[in-house]
Amino acid sequence: MERVTGAACTACGCEDSQVVSESRWWGEAVERLRCANCGVIYTAKVVEKIAPPKSVVKYIRMRCPGCGSKNVRTTTTRGTIRWHKCGDCQKNFQSVEE
Ligand SMILES: [Zn+2]
Ligand SMILES: [Zn+2]
Repeated sequence: MERVTGAACTACGCEDSQVVSESRWWGEAVERLRCANCGVIYTAKVVEKIAPPKSVVKYIRMRCPGCGSKNVRTTTTRGTIRWHKCGDCQKNFQSVEE
């Protein structure tokens, strides 16, 4: 039997339940659970198995100033200045770190 924690039975409150089916409601993942104790079928939100990282730094993807392409590679790095080349329009440009 598959044990699911975090989604207690709505009738008896026990967590000894089995997943019957999974579906999506309004973009949220939900699952139908059958309580092994009282047999009640109820719906619960799927508990996230992977905890989000504690600190997230936003990475802004470099874009070519000529054509706006993200197909950009770094050719040279010197201190805070980097040289880039666009893989689409072959334009060379620089960026400076803040
Ligand atoms: Zn129950
Ligand atoms: Zn470009």
